[in-house]
Parts: sequence; structure tokens; C-alpha cells
Amino acid sequence: MATQTLIDHLAVAPVAAGRLLIGGDWVDGQDAPLPVLSPINGRQLTTLASASAADVDRAVATARAAFDDGRWSRQPPAARKAVLHRLADLIQTHALELAVLGVRDNGTEISMALRAEPGSAAGTFRYYAEALDKVYGEIAPTAPDVLGLIHREPVGVVAAIVPWNFPLMIGAWKLAPALAMGNSVVLKPAETASLSLLRLAELALEAGLPPGVLNVVTGPGHVTGQALGLSMDADVLVFTGSGATGRRLLDYSARSNLKRCYLELGGKSPNIVFADAPDLAAAAKAAATAIFRNAGQVCVAGSRLLVDRAVQDDFLAALAQATQKMTPGNPLDLSTQIGAVNSEPQLDRNLGFIADAQAEGGRLVLGGHRALVETGGWYLEPTIIADVAPHHRLFQHEVFGPVLSVTPFETEAEAIGLANATDYGLAAGVWTGNLSRAHRMVRAIRAGVVHVNTYGGADGTVPLGGVRQSGNGHDKSLHALDKYTDLKTAWIQI
Ligand code: ADP
Repeated sequence: MATQTLIDHLAVAPVAAGRLLIGGDWVDGQDAPLPVLSPINGRQLTTLASASAADVDRAVATARAAFDDGRWSRQPPAARKAVLHRLADLIQTHALELAVLGVRDNGTEISMALRAEPGSAAGTFRYYAEALDKVYGEIAPTAPDVLGLIHREPVGVVAAIVPWNFPLMIGAWKLAPALAMGNSVVLKPAETASLSLLRLAELALEAGLPPGVLNVVTGPGHVTGQALGLSMDADVLVFTGSGATGRRLLDYSARSNLKRCYLELGGKSPNIVFADAPDLAAAAKAAATAIFRNAGQVCVAGSRLLVDRAVQDDFLAALAQATQKMTPGNPLDLSTQIGAVNSEPQLDRNLGFIADAQAEGGRLVLGGHRALVETGGWYLEPTIIADVAPHHRLFQHEVFGPVLSVTPFETEAEAIGLANATDYGLAAGVWTGNLSRAHRMVRAIRAGVVHVNTYGGADGTVPLGGVRQSGNGHDKSLHALDKYTDLKTAWIQI
């Protein structure tokens, strides 16, 4: 059957049960269930269990018990590897089902979700399955009468709080390395994107992950997430989400057991186009994709276009032309390039940014309005606003929507100054045909990743993480393993 026909069939299939996963059992939450609304049409899809603080404590205690008895943490590496590979196989077998479930829940266009969600999650589980028996301890270069051994141990219980934009991809970035190193996990998905992760947890059990090693608690951030942050027995907290929540998590850690917190907090990433870019037409197309795919709900989105004034008018014309081909549409249609905005409050927030930008002197080049109102879903036209100055709200703050700000520059030094003129430091793009300039820009821009003559699309071999108020710690690559391990020294007198 053609893929689109399969998707249409799956679109009416029942979704995962609204339960919590604690100790291998699917159980109700103590608090009242939450309705799950689909961004595609605003209608209720199902309900989600709501974990109380007591539910969360029980999940953490279960994870701790599973860690302590060694059912996973002390399995030989080859056994853990086999389970994680089986999970990757199951994700691939169920890729379409997982993607459709996720799209109905969070509104990402299916063409992107298929690649970025099950596709990427399966790859991530395989990457860490293969990595787990290639990480060694060390022998220190001590004096000859002692032996200094440096063991690398799992941390114990990992709490993972993840967002709604790419639940499987980002969930796998946390789960795969945490489980690979032998930890137990309590996962808290976002309220508006829990379904595909609940299904992933079912598949993990089917793959042979022992009960209690992965627990999933759904519910509101300020209840369920807060209880996890305040847990006295979670050793490490890994998070992707907003800066406001990140600050709260540090506070929870300080008020509880000083758990280590790794925060990935989004950005306001500059995409910088010099007049000497090798192919300005390609750069314009990429600039549109960099901000408008997944309706701009991408942490590394190129949301601030900085463009050489010498080519600004031509570039904006090419950008508008590329953007006009990207109209929002039904997220379950394979040809749709821009899906829905995740929730109604998020849509209102986006529209607020657009209104403020114009009130502050920004010039609306394209878009600016709600789209597809008749569907009952939450859609926004891809929006371009020019003449945005560094003191404007749109220049400084993350929208997390399909809204691009455009600011001209005249010199390389000015471009660097503008690139670094926010509190964030997650990603950047530089378009130039001058090799020396490209390297100078990579060094000068304060960001976790700088793309050159492309934007986004980095694979699992390279780390992703921010600097400044974009956070700390890294997802992906072998570097991510540091978050999920502790070093222990053995100092042995010979
Ligand atoms: P966004 O603005 O992208 O929704 P959030 O930071 O609000 O980002 O959400 C990311 C994750 O953090 C979600 O799983 C959400 O439930 C959780 N969360 C939100 N508020 C809190 C909180 N006060 N304590 C702990 N977790 C929270």
C-alpha cells in the first residue's frame, strides 16, 4: 500500500492508553486525567494520566530498586546491547505508527516526523547500543608503588523531562545513552506530546528491558515535572525545554538533593548571509527551511536572519518566493511542509510576538496571520519581519514558532556583534564562499554549533548543546555519555 494510504488508515487507529508506566505495570495516575487535544483540528484525541507527587516518588523508588538489584545495571554489556538493538528494530518496524501517533499529538508535518522521530530515535538507540562496550575506564600515570584506577560507573536514577517538538528524537537522545550506561530512568514527557513516548515505552518492554528500568510519568509540568525535579533520590536530571523551566529545575535541585542538572534551553540562532555566499538562491531556500519546518518549533531554528545590506533586497525577494511554496497544511499529508502549531496558547504567543514586532517598527514582509481556521486546528502563516533592531523583543526572545526576524549588517565585525547580541548561544549558520571568513566566524560566534553553507541536519556523531543561557551539557555523540556516568577512583597501595 502507498505510504499516504497507510497514514490515512493509521490516522483513525486508537492511540496509546492514558496510563503511567511504573515498575513494568501500566497504572492510573492519582490526579485527574488530562484531555489530549490534537493541534490538527483542536479536537480531543484521548486522555493522559496525571501523576501526583506521590506517583512520581513511587516511580523514582521503583527505578532505584531496579538499579540497586542489578537487573539492568549489572547485566553484561552484550546483553544490554542486544536489548537496545531490539528496541531499535521495533521502532523501525513500528515507524509509521509511531510517527502518526506523534503527529496527531503534536502537529509536526509527517514528512519531517518520519525522518526526525522514529528514524532518528532508532539510529540513536543503535549508536549507543554500539558505544556501550567501547567505553573504558583508565589507569592513572601514578608513582610505581600505587595503582590509580578510574572507573566509569552509571549514576543510578536519571530523571528526564522532555519537550513537545520532537518527543521521540529528543527522548531517545536522553534515554539511549542513559540506558546504555546501565542507569534506570524516570521519563516525564510533555503534556502535549506524550503518546509516542508511551508507545516507545511499550516497545522497550517488548524488547526485553527489565520492568522498573524505564518508568514513564505523564502530567502537568508544574506538578509531575516539579515532583521529579524535587525528588530526593534522582541522581541526574536531564532536560530540554524553556529557559524559565530550566531555572526552576536548578532551584528544585538546590532545594532537594543537589542532583546534577543538564539543561538544553533553546535559542535565538543567527543565520548570517554574506554577499559572497557561493549560491544565494540556495541560501534563501535553506533560510526558509531553517525557520519554517515544524512551524518553527525547533530549538536550533535559524530564527534571526542577518543579511549583508548589499544583497538584502534580492535575498528577501528570493526568501519570500521560497517561503510562498511552504504553506501550512494537514500535518498527516505527506506533501505538507509546515504542520500545525502545537497548542492554542502557543499560537496566541506567536501572534503576540508578531504584533509586538510591528508595533516596535518591524516591517511585515510575509504572513502574519492565523491559517486554516476552518479546520479548528492551530496553524500560522510562515511570517517574515524585516527591519528588526537589536533592542526589539523579536530580536532578543525565542518565539518557537514560524516567525523570522531580518536584520541587515554592513561589515563582518557588525555581523559578529549582532550574532552575539542575545543571551542565547545554541546554533548559528554562516553563508560565505570565503574560507578564511568561515573559520573566523566559527570562532567568533558564541554557540554550540555553527553551520557553514548549510543549516541544521547534523547527525548523531556530533554533540549538540548550548552555551550561555541556551544551557549546558550535550546530547548526541560519545560526549553525551559523560552525563550518565560518574568517575570513581580506586587508589591502591601496592
Ligand atoms: P515549552 O515552553 O517548550 O513547553 P517547557 O519548559 O514549559 O517548554 O516544557 C518542557 C517540559 O518541561 C515539559 O515536559 C513540561 O511539562 C515540563 N515542565 C514545565 N513546567 C515545569 C515545572 N515547573 N517543573 C518541571 N517541569 C516542568
